[in-house]
Amino acid sequence: MKTIGITGNSGSGKSIFSKILAQKFNAVIIDADKISKENAKKGKEYYNQIVETFGKHILKDEEIDRKKLAQIIYNNSGEKEKLDLLTNKYIVKAIKEEIEKNKNKNIVLDIPLLFETELNLECDYTISLMAKEETKIKRMCTRDNITEEIAKQRLKIQKDNDFYIKKSNYVIINEDTELETEANDFIETMPILNNKIVVVKNGKFKYIQFKELLKYKNVIHCFTLQPMDFGSNDTYSIKKEEIEKNYKILCDNLKIDYKDIVRPYQTHTNNVKKVKNETGFFIEELKDIDALITNHTNEILSLTFADCTPIYIFDKEKNIIALVHSGWQGTAKSIVKNAIQELKKEYKCKAEDMLCVIGPTIRNCHFEVDTDVKEIFYKQFKYMKNIDDIIKENKETGKSYIDTVMINKNLMIENGILSENIIDCNICTVCNSNIMHSYRKDGKDAGRNTAILGLV
Ligand SMILES: [Zn+2]
Repeated sequence: MKTIGITGNSGSGKSIFSKILAQKFNAVIIDADKISKENAKKGKEYYNQIVETFGKHILKDEEIDRKKLAQIIYNNSGEKEKLDLLTNKYIVKAIKEEIEKNKNKNIVLDIPLLFETELNLECDYTISLMAKEETKIKRMCTRDNITEEIAKQRLKIQKDNDFYIKKSNYVIINEDTELETEANDFIETMPILNNKIVVVKNGKFKYIQFKELLKYKNVIHCFTLQPMDFGSNDTYSIKKEEIEKNYKILCDNLKIDYKDIVRPYQTHTNNVKKVKNETGFFIEELKDIDALITNHTNEILSLTFADCTPIYIFDKEKNIIALVHSGWQGTAKSIVKNAIQELKKEYKCKAEDMLCVIGPTIRNCHFEVDTDVKEIFYKQFKYMKNIDDIIKENKETGKSYIDTVMINKNLMIENGILSENIIDCNICTVCNSNIMHSYRKDGKDAGRNTAILGLV
């Protein structure tokens, strides 16, 4: 049984979405606003406390006049906090009781203050809905029959998009979007959701962000998901114009300049390049490059992936980044080690300041190889203490399963990275090939996900 918490600003569409999702899960809806209204009726403890705190002038025919109360809390600083405190005490308790009562059922919790009340801790998944300011205002005016000015006032004290992205498992930008489709999309994405990532969906554009990197305001990053395809330099799953179009959508979403993209010609080398204003796609200077480093804000690093391992490195002290394409060949040639060493050499970075994030990749559940490839790995890494965990041979088939992620982690540790600074999202691209491009699954027709890393 699952509990899914749904939240977002006023006018983001969370109530409609809650109903749609509840249908799909045959779930009970716990509506925080409804519970709050119930408890604010005359004679209830919550009612008494509100009257005591805000005075009798908020009453109309002895019931709380919500418009008057709203006026007070949205116009006077500190008043909203007072109401939130009371809400926390009485409404959160009532919601927890409802959750307990329905614990044998799927639950959709529709609540504006999901994170502020810490009721997210009762949820298996959290979804935030977001929309542009003007969209929210339009919806609020129609729904609540209020003026544009009042809607703006209410939104002013609500949390911004960053707050929701940092806290949620899944975010839907709800502009002209079909919420039925969004609900299906969320269900499809559920298997990859965990507390290391958030998935953001804006129309056709869907991407992962890593919670650890979101902590740094000056870092821009993402890992894109299907259906968008960013193509590759050696196979052509889509036309060049289509790739350009997709990059432009990506740039719009992440608020970066298309002209700043640095996209090398990846050829499974272990070559690392310090970018020196070589922006653009597949230019001569970017040939045979599988890792990029920079400290410039106008160079947005982009590498593409279909099962190979993306590694995002960020020096927290010096604000320097590296993006690494570590396919099985790159891993066998220790490309991540080269990237760390280049950062040390070129920018005097210290290993203990570096954060390393490992994105979605083929993992040992799916990376099955023949003896020749196994031998390459064995020869290179037999010195590693956990080599027996890294290479697992199936005696019956003669095939081996290789844990390339573990090799990369060992290489990071060997080069001074602190284990608490290695963040692995634990997602296998082949296990989830319905939402990520996978070479193992689609061969040379496979599309490409792109990893983006940049500084602002
Ligand atoms: Zn797998």
